[in-house]
Amino acid sequence: MKFVQGLECVLCGTTYPARLTYTCPRCGIAGILDVRYDYAAIARALTPRRLAARRDPSHWRYRELLPIREDAALPSLTVGGTPLSPAAALARHVGVSTLFLKDDGRNATGSLKDRASSLGVVKARESRRKIIACASTGNAASSCAGMAASLGLRSVIFVPERAPEPKVTQLLIFGATVLRVRGSYEQAWQMCQEACERWGWYNRNCAINPYLVEGKKTAGLEIGEQLAWQPTDWVTVSVGDGCSIAGVWKAFREMKTLGWIDRPPRMLGVQAEGAAPITAAFRSGLPLEPIEPRTFAESIGVGVPHNWKKAVRAIQESGGAMINVSDDEILDAMRYTGRLSGIFAEPAAATAVAGLRRAAAEGIVARRSSAVAVITGNGLKDVQSARTAVGKPFDITPDGAGLPDILKAKGLIGD
Ligand SMILES: *Cc1c(COP(=O)(O)O)cnc(C)c1O
Repeated sequence: MKFVQGLECVLCGTTYPARLTYTCPRCGIAGILDVRYDYAAIARALTPRRLAARRDPSHWRYRELLPIREDAALPSLTVGGTPLSPAAALARHVGVSTLFLKDDGRNATGSLKDRASSLGVVKARESRRKIIACASTGNAASSCAGMAASLGLRSVIFVPERAPEPKVTQLLIFGATVLRVRGSYEQAWQMCQEACERWGWYNRNCAINPYLVEGKKTAGLEIGEQLAWQPTDWVTVSVGDGCSIAGVWKAFREMKTLGWIDRPPRMLGVQAEGAAPITAAFRSGLPLEPIEPRTFAESIGVGVPHNWKKAVRAIQESGGAMINVSDDEILDAMRYTGRLSGIFAEPAAATAVAGLRRAAAEGIVARRSSAVAVITGNGLKDVQSARTAVGKPFDITPDGAGLPDILKAKGLIGD
């Protein structure tokens, strides 16, 4: 960890050596730590030109900006290097001039969470733990289990009752010990917290584990590099715990500090109307008020986000905004994103696109703006939700009776 200077508490500002595992000893669980680097030294070691010469497309290409040892054992699953695709038809539909989709559903286990989990297992290995634990509604869990399998660790996963079946199945396939907690995400989170303390497991929890957000940062670094260091006006990310948007923003701040970009983008954070405590805190300037989450986009259905402060700070620093969308707008965004771009986004991922559309309609995002929407998870991970967004197939018999009528009705053939 040549370039890591220490860990700084976001509450009291104390800096600690990078030997700590979780939160600030003085402030307790609220004292989230932020990894600090020696950017002057990084700027000498790494330049956009040197990056361009690197063959490794995975997110380890940014290793100087990650809190890992040079000789660290890495999971063999590829993480990062996901495509950034222009989506012109979708841009017109949401009301911006240019739109790119960063398709993080293409990660090894199908979500952006792989960027964080990959750091989690590397750090667990480094501290000689054999078991990594995680509480999650799905994506963090399946990603933690997959990365653990890839690096030869065992995983214990606490999921709340409402975790979607496909995600639970995915983590069983990865060999995780799955504990379905008859209760909320918050209760599952608490249980995981206590179990880690009691049995000395490594805790893969983005809010309290300072190293994981560094992994999420690489989504932003990739966007910067893929856009040839000319970021769009806006980058939009859906917000649950707040770690993803905080991580992506940190990347742009670092690229600015390193002199790789001139103008960082403004961050647009999007929450579901029924689970929007971070939007409320951002708008009021007051501490976060926990709520009871109500949204079908379960990946962002977080009532007690532990990392709200980092998220709010990220959006403020970037001169950005928070916006809420309804579950209907999310369903609609799943449909039009699929039709207009060919990308199948899970509800929490389509939320970013829905938020951009609403922000454009409300004039928060100007029509001449360019934007990147981060597609945080693959729609195949939650097919039950997707089914409610779409119609049914046409049932026909093998003799093809009625086929011409259907094709005519769909405008696929003439009369
Ligand atoms: C976790 C997740 C988010 C939100 O990330 P936070 O760090 O919780 O804000 C968004 N979309 C998907 C698909 C996720 O899995």
